[in-house]
Amino acid sequence: MLAITAQVVVPMLESFSATFFCGMVVLLLLGVGLLIWGWRGKRHGDRPTCRKCDYNLTGITSERCPECGAALTATTIAGGKRRRRWGPVSLGALLTVWAVWSGADRGLKTDWYPLWPTGWLIDDLQCGNDVLVDRIWQEIQRRDNSDGLTTSHQQQLIDACLAEHQRPTGSRAWLGACEFLRDCVTGGKLTGAQIKLLYENIPLPPLRVRQAVRAGDSVPFRIGDGFDMSTFFFGVRYESRPVRFRIDGQSVELPIRITEPGTYLLEVDAQFRLVQLDGGNRLPLPPAREQTLSTQVTVVEDDMLTVLRDPAFAREVRDHTRVDCDSVQLRIGILGVSMPLAFDVFLELDDHEVHVGRALFRPGQPFFNAEQSFRIPVRLGSRRAVTVILRTNLDIVRATLDVTSCWSGELRFDDVPIEASADARRRLFSHDEVQRAQDAARKQPVAP
Ligand SMILES: [Zn+2]
Repeated sequence: MLAITAQVVVPMLESFSATFFCGMVVLLLLGVGLLIWGWRGKRHGDRPTCRKCDYNLTGITSERCPECGAALTATTIAGGKRRRRWGPVSLGALLTVWAVWSGADRGLKTDWYPLWPTGWLIDDLQCGNDVLVDRIWQEIQRRDNSDGLTTSHQQQLIDACLAEHQRPTGSRAWLGACEFLRDCVTGGKLTGAQIKLLYENIPLPPLRVRQAVRAGDSVPFRIGDGFDMSTFFFGVRYESRPVRFRIDGQSVELPIRITEPGTYLLEVDAQFRLVQLDGGNRLPLPPAREQTLSTQVTVVEDDMLTVLRDPAFAREVRDHTRVDCDSVQLRIGILGVSMPLAFDVFLELDDHEVHVGRALFRPGQPFFNAEQSFRIPVRLGSRRAVTVILRTNLDIVRATLDVTSCWSGELRFDDVPIEASADARRRLFSHDEVQRAQDAARKQPVAP
């Protein structure tokens, strides 16, 4: 059954029709009946013949048929030889072939799943045919919603979902399994062994550090970069929390600083747990598992940062920068600059500066990072305008995992008008500007 369904690609399944299949069975019986009746034929003439084997008994005087040995009496001797009725034979053959053909054709297009036992359905989730897998999930969900699954079927289905989870690539079957497994996880229906397997199935995210860290700087690291753990379940996320740190086996505290250049082994003990996202709430789903992630850290004397101090570049940066301010928020947009920029953002108020935040702008992903907003930490009172200063801070770059170059300088925007309301929010860059910058970024390789 499994092998057949796996090979049949069915564009659309028709629902099972009892009338049709009963009609086909009646036609089949009729056809076969006609075929047999016509094939046996009708006796013609009055020549004596053996009723059993149709042997010509003309002139035979013995008590038994010389051909088949049957006893010859008045009832076993027939008059005449059988001749086939070709009309009924042809009609019977036609009906038989037609009933078998259309029955088989309709049978392949028919959705048999509503008639299947639930256990078979669960087994067939691994048939590998996306259309059928979708259909099976529909049928399983229908049964689950109408009568509910028995505990043993529920366990069988959880095991099937966990087996699907174990496969390296996501499949259609897994998409269906996600939702079911999510409900089982949040509903506490998984046994201890199943929860253990679930956690084991989730691949460990990588631990990443900056390629080279300057001696004495804090070592920037990240768990799970470029690894979307949220795709595993709808509404359930797999989160990690680093709890202990070791450098070459020695326990260290955050921030991790290494003063001697060299290569070190960084180990991070991290707790992983599934967290249910329920509106604004995050409900942890016990238990968590703890795993150790490790990677090498290279500590260098020198910065290994390419810094551009060209004042001419300042004009380019300025031309690509927009600043927008209301009484609550300051927004800065920088789009289409070829070098990464890292700024401390200040407001100049009367005779002193107020630090508003830090901003990092990267080329190559202008649409993503082009606009950043900052909450203004002071009351602006009745001011109509404010001065904004962007001052390069290379430590922001050093705290990233991957940025190795930066422009260094200062930009000053005098008398930025303070807009009355934060409601009248518009984008700093138009859709066309973002599009153009994206196209340009694709054509031009990113500056080192
Ligand atoms: Zn005979």
